[in-house]
Amino acid sequence: MVERVIITMACSVCKDRNFHFDKSKKSGKMLILKKFCRNCGRHTEHKETK
Ligand SMILES: [Zn+2]
Repeated sequence: MVERVIITMACSVCKDRNFHFDKSKKSGKMLILKKFCRNCGRHTEHKETK
């Protein structure tokens, strides 16, 4: 059985939690994605948060 979790991505610049990401639970490492932050008005790194 594959357990999936919804994680929240937070902008590393303004800390705004603006993305939700679906992933399988077995991935243990911290996910960092380049996403467009509406708050910053540009692409920033987004880290997973709980
Ligand atoms: Zn931002």
